[in-house]
Amino acid sequence: MSKLSNIGTIKDIVNRYGFSFSKALGQNFLINPSVCPRIAEMGNARPGFGIIEIGTGIGVLTAELAQRADKVVCIELDSRLLPVLDETLSEFDNIKVINDDVLKVDLKKLIADEFAGMQVAVCANLPYYITSPILMSLLEQRLPIVSITVMVQKEAAVRICAKPGSRECGALSLAVSYYSEPKQLFSVSRGSFLPAPDVDSAVIRLDVRESPAIQVPDEKALFAIIKAGFSQRRKTIVNALSSGLGLPKEEVSRMLERAQVSPKARAEQLTLEDFGRIRLPAEDDAA
Ligand code: SAM
Repeated sequence: MSKLSNIGTIKDIVNRYGFSFSKALGQNFLINPSVCPRIAEMGNARPGFGIIEIGTGIGVLTAELAQRADKVVCIELDSRLLPVLDETLSEFDNIKVINDDVLKVDLKKLIADEFAGMQVAVCANLPYYITSPILMSLLEQRLPIVSITVMVQKEAAVRICAKPGSRECGALSLAVSYYSEPKQLFSVSRGSFLPAPDVDSAVIRLDVRESPAIQVPDEKALFAIIKAGFSQRRKTIVNALSSGLGLPKEEVSRMLERAQVSPKARAEQLTLEDFGRIRLPAEDDAA
């Protein structure tokens, strides 16, 4: 177990460096010693694997990942943490820290440059203010990664892992299930963090599919249709798509009929396969 799992050590480091937590950067650092080893173990940190960590904080999870995997590359935006990490991770020679915004890093290149011959997984206690952009960016790029194991806000975990037909199912659930198989792993209470956030958290793992869950001629069209369907989720699908896509209702009715989808259904009642059969008029012309 890393020395960083000790709350006293963490508080001492924070005090010595005069570190002030940034709410804007989602800085709630883990202080519960049992959580990081579980994320590492359930997140594929093991021999033969390279791990990308997003948001190191003072390195509590990083140390657990580096003890188990061949190599860890972490991306941390806050440059104030770099001298801290020099100290806290000094015992490891298999960690590289990149000081940048994860949404601006070329991850395909990073994987090719840093993880030759290894399988790759992502593990992180995510900054919650950009949970969806990070997950969608990791998935949409079709990176050669096996899994994404992340701590997120509890409500986000429920939405991301929601099954079609449930009230929580939304555009993000369907987009995530297109690229991966999501699972909720375990819950983490707010008291496990310093400072304690106002929300509870959960760890989820997305096992990335080798090819998407369904085959469609135009991925952009699929996501436009899903987004429009859920944009006014209380409306029937015919009305939601008509206003969301800016198409006449008669046109949408024909699209739905061809896709064998009831115009009276609500978006949350449709499966990914149902959405995948709906074609925009332009797609039909091209076929
Ligand atoms: N892994 C640490 C832990 O568990 O204690 C810190 C987790 S904290 C919830 C999120 C971390 O992400 C912070 O260190 C924050 O500075 C960093 N961060 C915020 N926005 C970021 C971004 N766009 N790119 C990279 N790191 C970011």
